[in-house]
Amino acid sequence: MTPPSPPSLGAASKPAAAPGPRTRLEALPGVGPQRAKLLAKLGLVTIEDALCQHLPSRHEDRSQILPLGRLTVGDARTCAGTIAGISPPPRGRPRVPLTVMIRDASGFLSCAWFNQPYLARVFKRGQFLIVHGKVQPYGRGPLQMQVKDYELVEEGPDETLHTGRLVPVYPTTEGLTQRSLRRLMKRLVDGWADQVEDPLPSAVREKIGLPSLGQAIRGAHFPETDAVQALARGRLVFDDFFLFEVGLAIRRHREGRRRGLAMNPKGDLARRLLAGLPYTLTVAQERVWREIKTDMAEPYPMNRLLQGDVGSGKTIVAALAIVTAVEAGYQAALMAPTEILAEQHMMTLQALLEPLGVRVVLLTGAVKSKARQSAIEAVESGSAGCAVGTHALVQGGVAFERLGLAVIDEQHRFGVGHRAALRGKAESPDVLVMTATPIPRTLALTLYGDLEVSVLDELPPGRKPVRTEARGERARQKIYAFLRDEMAAGRQVYVVCPLVEESEASDLRAATEMAERLQRQVFPERRVGLLHGRLRFPEKERVMREFKEGAVHVLVSTTVIEVGIDVPNASVMLVEHAERFGLSQLHQLRGRVGRGPFKSFCILLSAAVGEDSQRRIEAMTETNDGFKIAEVDLALRGPGEFFGTRQSGLPEFRVADLLRDGAVLEQARREAFAVVQGDPSLLAPAQRRLRAALLARWRGKLDLAGIG
Ligand code: ADP
Ligand code: MG
Repeated sequence: MTPPSPPSLGAASKPAAAPGPRTRLEALPGVGPQRAKLLAKLGLVTIEDALCQHLPSRHEDRSQILPLGRLTVGDARTCAGTIAGISPPPRGRPRVPLTVMIRDASGFLSCAWFNQPYLARVFKRGQFLIVHGKVQPYGRGPLQMQVKDYELVEEGPDETLHTGRLVPVYPTTEGLTQRSLRRLMKRLVDGWADQVEDPLPSAVREKIGLPSLGQAIRGAHFPETDAVQALARGRLVFDDFFLFEVGLAIRRHREGRRRGLAMNPKGDLARRLLAGLPYTLTVAQERVWREIKTDMAEPYPMNRLLQGDVGSGKTIVAALAIVTAVEAGYQAALMAPTEILAEQHMMTLQALLEPLGVRVVLLTGAVKSKARQSAIEAVESGSAGCAVGTHALVQGGVAFERLGLAVIDEQHRFGVGHRAALRGKAESPDVLVMTATPIPRTLALTLYGDLEVSVLDELPPGRKPVRTEARGERARQKIYAFLRDEMAAGRQVYVVCPLVEESEASDLRAATEMAERLQRQVFPERRVGLLHGRLRFPEKERVMREFKEGAVHVLVSTTVIEVGIDVPNASVMLVEHAERFGLSQLHQLRGRVGRGPFKSFCILLSAAVGEDSQRRIEAMTETNDGFKIAEVDLALRGPGEFFGTRQSGLPEFRVADLLRDGAVLEQARREAFAVVQGDPSLLAPAQRRLRAALLARWRGKLDLAGIG
């Protein structure tokens, strides 16, 4: 057992150097281990962390606090007064707020806190209280504020720090009061703001007209005016994006110079593939296909993102790329995020490619033993021109004979690691990433900043926009009558079952019951099919084939059809409990209809719903445009949630906000790429600090080999 080492042994043995920006907060007099722990919870270890990362969530203008008598109803109000009375919520009635009456010479305000009964012990009559929150009318009495933040003001030497000015309000954590955090911040800003090393090359700073780093730090924390604050924050946001984009630019530069495969065959297979289609390519498909073909022919690795709304026809473009790789003597792989989508691609590609003599094999977790063995052999011997699969494709043991092209569908559901792993299956294969969830431009630049982008911004001709309606339970019989009419006219319908809870088993039960009820009681004259994730591939294939051929009229499904399935004769998508689905899921589901010449409908059946689900359903009824949908989705959920997982590859910025700061991102990107263009390894003396900051911030997260 090692005895606990005496505290501060290291510090005591050396003469203490004057603290600098890299000094740990706990080494500062007055910051004990207790507070250091709380600060670490906020991610703050050094002085520099606190100065550069922990910006106020807002500033409160306490220079002109309104007299209570002149307060008006509204969202973000700040006011102050002396506590005149405290009413704790009655015992056992947690829904009733704690209320505190404050007063000044002009009037009164009732202040309400929900779920914080302990505050009754914190407040005392006669204390001076600053409150911030939403002000509402309140019976016949004074107005009432729902308090978001509050601060008890005591008499003290630093009182001017907390009142009478633009006062920063920081995100904090339990046990660390707003006032003590603010006091610490003031001390750090006064002591070290001008000593933090500025990573931004001064040429860039001057060109954009940004304040110095010291000015920015001071202005972001303790500004004199709102304008100063905005300018200061803008500078720190720029730095955040700039550093990240420099990393991307370096990666892109390196990729661009790596040798890759030049696949430039005569194009017979592609010509035959096109000749066999019942349609011609849209102008957008032609353009995108040309971009991809050019990339493939170059002796550098392709890194291209293909964006297109659901139904825009990405699959055929991918198939053209695949046959081109095959004709050039290489293999292609297509990786999808789910088994069902992989299976869908498998069926589509088999239909397109096998007539051309290209063998396609499937490799997912669900493909077992013998089938799996033979697929692996086909991939390893090179007899399979194309392998379709899930991440099972990249998990150990599968060695392509000569992989030339990796197509990755729905990339944002993968970790960036998967992209790298598939790429790693060969020397330098071309990579085509396809995404069906349109991504707002700022996010595309961030997530795929090292990729070239192609956009299918046109739907195949003859598509009629899907009409989307929101309905309640009362309309159920009318909806069924409508489905009956559609089927009488020869159409087919989807019924997507609610997500019951986080359990696959109960989803399955709900879908099974729904299918049985529809078959027995509602549409006895029709055939109802059931599709869910637990079916094995041959059964799924059979159900989907029967639906495709029209032998099954109603396809009941769990969300497994969210992506991939393609039956142009289907004209109605009925979504049960639509309020339980995310916006992009709903948009994908809707994309399953309206793929043929028929007028199509998406019916969103929902129970009484909350505010957010209401907004989602409204957005669905208002627009068919995937990009608009994505923007609403992003606004509702925020960038982190938007991509579902932390592994999404979405970088975490210190202060920048992808939603608010999109314009800055583009500017930072331009400057970053220009800097890297001129000095790809950042070796010039002017870039020394930039290089150090980049490595400190992004090494290990971005692959920065070559400069590290
Ligand atoms: P997504 O972009 O959602 O993957 P798909 O590739 O599944 O779209 O294509 C949707 C449907 O449109 C398919 O039925 C496909 O055969 C059809 N399609 C694709 N391109 C065209 C085109 N140029 N003209 C007519 N139909 C097309
Ligand atoms: Mg598709």
